[in-house]
Amino acid sequence: MSITVRAAAKINLHLGVGRAREDGFHPLDTVYQAISLYDDLTLTTAGADSVSVLGSPYIDFRDIPVDATNIALRAVAQVPCDDGHLVQINKQIPVAGGMAGGSADAAAALVAHDRLHELGQGDDVLLAQAARLGSDVPFSLVGGTARGRGRGELVEPIEDHGMWWWVAVPAAVGLSTPDVYRHFDRLFPDAPERPAEPTELLAALATGEPVRLARALHNDLQEPAIDLRPELGALIERGEAAGALRGLVSGSGPTCVFLCDSVDGAMEVLAGLSADHDVVLTATGPVAGAHVLA
Ligand code: ATP
Repeated sequence: MSITVRAAAKINLHLGVGRAREDGFHPLDTVYQAISLYDDLTLTTAGADSVSVLGSPYIDFRDIPVDATNIALRAVAQVPCDDGHLVQINKQIPVAGGMAGGSADAAAALVAHDRLHELGQGDDVLLAQAARLGSDVPFSLVGGTARGRGRGELVEPIEDHGMWWWVAVPAAVGLSTPDVYRHFDRLFPDAPERPAEPTELLAALATGEPVRLARALHNDLQEPAIDLRPELGALIERGEAAGALRGLVSGSGPTCVFLCDSVDGAMEVLAGLSADHDVVLTATGPVAGAHVLA
């Protein structure tokens, strides 16, 4: 018995980060968008647990564990079960790229396990399991465009009247999310307790106007990410010179994403960046959260 579930990459259109809490987590006020870059996860009942991963040539497979620490197997283990499982991941989401690739796999595994064994768990149960696995996993279940608060795990869908065109440039080597947060703490020891709210961004999404959305994009982790990887600043300038409305570090980076005004605009930016970068991807958003493939 086997089932395949697709889950999307995320970008943060707004990422407001507050000063670290007592428990070490940073309070977030973020707006996620799921974009059309996917991992497909196939779950099969088997005698013992195992993981295999294949995918696009730009994926850094060395960084993906294939033992019980893989987040997809940790997701399956949320509900004790007599069977073992084979997890096969077909990966297009860059690893350690700030696009929640591991979280997408976790969300896909939660849905696959529920459907494979016909558990019929409600959305609330799956969302609670997702939040235990990581801050971005609930959003990977929900997809679309959504606001995330708390550590990012408290998600609420929001009005989005756009069909947005993105160009994404992954880096050859990933960035560790905890390292970027530590650098944020060093750069901004007096960060406000309450993270910045996405007021103008929410208004821009409701209008569906790309120029207005471009102006409202915001990422508090961009400065620490660029400080750790200065080449990202130059990449953003090149993408904007090539015609993007706005370039932005995706989450904690190092993937950079570029908002374009149309499919033609995205093709121009892709052509402009391809001279210097081996891997330049295009995507649209918003797209659905983790769902079974027929
Ligand atoms: P986020 O944007 O949520 O902070 P990210 O996209 O920057 O995350 P991931 O691709 O989720 O980063 O990978 C983070 C780490 O998680 C990797 O370095 C890897 O060691 C580990 N990991 C565990 N399981 C997986 C998986 N199924 N796919 C990718 N990475 C995994």
